[in-house]
Amino acid sequence: MVSAITSAARNGVLIKGSTYIEEISSIRVFAFDKTGTLTEGKLKITDILGIKYSNKDILSIAAFLESLSEHPIAKAIVEEAKKKGNVLKHVEDFKATPGKGIIGKIYYIGNERMFRELSINYPIEIVKKLQDEGKTVILIGNGKKVIGIIAVMDKIGDATIKSINKLKSMGIRTEMITGDNNITARAIAKKIGIDEYHANLLPDDKVKLIEEHLAKKYGSVAMVGDGVNDAPALAKANVGIAMGAIGSDIAPKTADIALMQDDLSKLPYLIELSKKTMNVVRQNIIISILVKGIFAILTFPGFITLWLAVAIGDMGLSLVVILNAMRLSLIKP
Ligand code: ADP
Ligand code: MG
Repeated sequence: MVSAITSAARNGVLIKGSTYIEEISSIRVFAFDKTGTLTEGKLKITDILGIKYSNKDILSIAAFLESLSEHPIAKAIVEEAKKKGNVLKHVEDFKATPGKGIIGKIYYIGNERMFRELSINYPIEIVKKLQDEGKTVILIGNGKKVIGIIAVMDKIGDATIKSINKLKSMGIRTEMITGDNNITARAIAKKIGIDEYHANLLPDDKVKLIEEHLAKKYGSVAMVGDGVNDAPALAKANVGIAMGAIGSDIAPKTADIALMQDDLSKLPYLIELSKKTMNVVRQNIIISILVKGIFAILTFPGFITLWLAVAIGDMGLSLVVILNAMRLSLIKP
């Protein structure tokens, strides 16, 4: 176990305990978060559409609100606003009234679900059209109506598609769980070739899906996420695997295993390593019991001298077991 954990760490995979090696070696289903896990999480703004507001104002308002969020979508919007030089203070609706206070207005930013729950109408046709192109649509509204739409698109890395294929060929079921809408989720699931997808999930729904659906059906579940909106699911899964431990501080805390880089190709390696580790553990136990047993029996007719017992039965056996374990460091991602 120590050999496996050390070797994994050298290859950029931090395993927080030997129980997770044992658990991973027998897991049959992997659940993946979408944004930032299956996709790169480097979202690009593709469309900005102001409704009776200028595009510039929409971006400012959006960036102002999103500066409170850690979500990849939020980061993309804030960055875009900074790049275009129209940041925060530009929102003219926030007026300081000297000697009295500040008058603000209510703005909302979020997905269709949020606006449905707020009973604010939005242009469904435009939204559907953008989603069909694989884009995620964000609506911006004031207290009464939608005043703008921003669409973002994420890239799917080549490594993602390869890694998912590799996992599938190892007999592992792969499922995507996402808070994004059904149309965008379907487009992305199809592109990646993942076995199944579940969309429109709130963080709590992700937990429920793991507990009530995947765990019941497959026994134990591994969940892979980046920690944004999926920390509860990471914590609930039998093995929570966090991506991109460098540069993020939420995920590694709740996860059992952390991948130092945003690199899903470490997952097949992790499975191979855990399986081989469990084999080595079994081999070592069997060798130990056999040798000790044979030595114990052969002691009675007087075949075993003290030196034989020390050189083979004790020290020799320890060395064999250690050397056998050290083979694990030969496994490479
Ligand atoms: P995923 O499962 O793909 O990582 P999340 O649960 O993080 O998705 O988010 C689900 C959806 O909720 C997003 O696709 C987006 O529509 C909306 N959303 C979440 N956070 C924000 C935000 N800060 N600004 C706008 N929309 C957001
Ligand atoms: Mg996420």
